[in-house]
Amino acid sequence: MILKNQKTIQFIFASIVFMVVSYVPNGLFYVFLFSIVLGAVFGKVFCTWMCPIGFFKSLMLRNLSEDEQKSHKFNYYKVGCPISWIQGLLNKYSLFKIRKKDTCISCGKCDKACYIPTFDQTKSIYKSNKESAHEAFNCSKCLKCVDVCPNNSLKYSFK
Ligand code: SF4
Ligand code: SF4
Repeated sequence: MILKNQKTIQFIFASIVFMVVSYVPNGLFYVFLFSIVLGAVFGKVFCTWMCPIGFFKSLMLRNLSEDEQKSHKFNYYKVGCPISWIQGLLNKYSLFKIRKKDTCISCGKCDKACYIPTFDQTKSIYKSNKESAHEAFNCSKCLKCVDVCPNNSLKYSFK
């Protein structure tokens, strides 16, 4: 449900970030410090939910096919900016993580929806014999995997 409002949420937070960077003395430094704390708690949420550049990027991508969007995201989130680098590293250690419940029926819909297992066969959201896609550096916490799961077996929650 939160995904339905993703653009609105991103627009609001991106506007706040833009104002802070533009009008507060040393604003970029404060945003950077805040993003480290944010990454430790939530992982790499800045790109999808707060970044002004990410907001315009998502508008530009919306006319591309789903496969093209996935390809762009897979490559873009491997690079990003210094905030993205730090939050990406914190994906492994953040307090909030995407967790799989025992009700998983291994339908594979989460992996199909995510750009990481699509382009990196060593990673998966539900397969236990692969590395966790949601702990990968380029997981942007888009929460598409949580959204497509047919029986709510994935939850983005506190430890
Ligand atoms: S979409 Fe849900 S039920 Fe299907 S494999 Fe992923 S976690 Fe399991
Ligand atoms: S939140 Fe889920 S769908 Fe989105 S990038 Fe991370 S693992 Fe993939």
